[in-house]
Amino acid sequence: MAKILVKPEVCIGCHLCEVWCAVAHSKSKNLIKAFMYEDPKPLPRVAVEEDLPLTFPLQCRHCDEPDCVSACISGALHKDPESGRVIHDKERCVGCYSCVLVCPYGNVFIDHENRKIVKCDLCAGLDMPYCVSNCPNEALIYVSDS
Ligand code: SF4
Ligand code: SF4
Repeated sequence: MAKILVKPEVCIGCHLCEVWCAVAHSKSKNLIKAFMYEDPKPLPRVAVEEDLPLTFPLQCRHCDEPDCVSACISGALHKDPESGRVIHDKERCVGCYSCVLVCPYGNVFIDHENRKIVKCDLCAGLDMPYCVSNCPNEALIYVSDS
């Protein structure tokens, strides 16, 4: 099962994980093109919470029994039994935001423009989640059984 673990003691609150998460979910996968030219702008699936001096990147836990999946009224969320990822199908999403209400970690984000949600997919299709590979202080660790 794949997950991202956080080392809050070395998080410096730079918010680069948010930036690179958005890039990972952009059309171009390019930092400049994504923010300068893409419309709509790509959205991050991670949020850095601050209670200074403590900062902490809030990540989807890809829960073993995900409340978001149970609450979804349209079958747009499911847990992949092989990878353990909790995956969102935007075509099936009806934008009821039940998942936003029930996620105990506040890790489902509203896509206001499309009236749907976005959530972490552990950068499906990429070798390594961009938040992990671009954290300058190695505060994020990717663990996977495979
Ligand atoms: S979105 Fe929230 S409830 Fe769903 S798997 Fe991630 S942490 Fe768990
Ligand atoms: S907002 Fe979309 S993914 Fe979330 S519970 Fe509603 S239909 Fe399911």
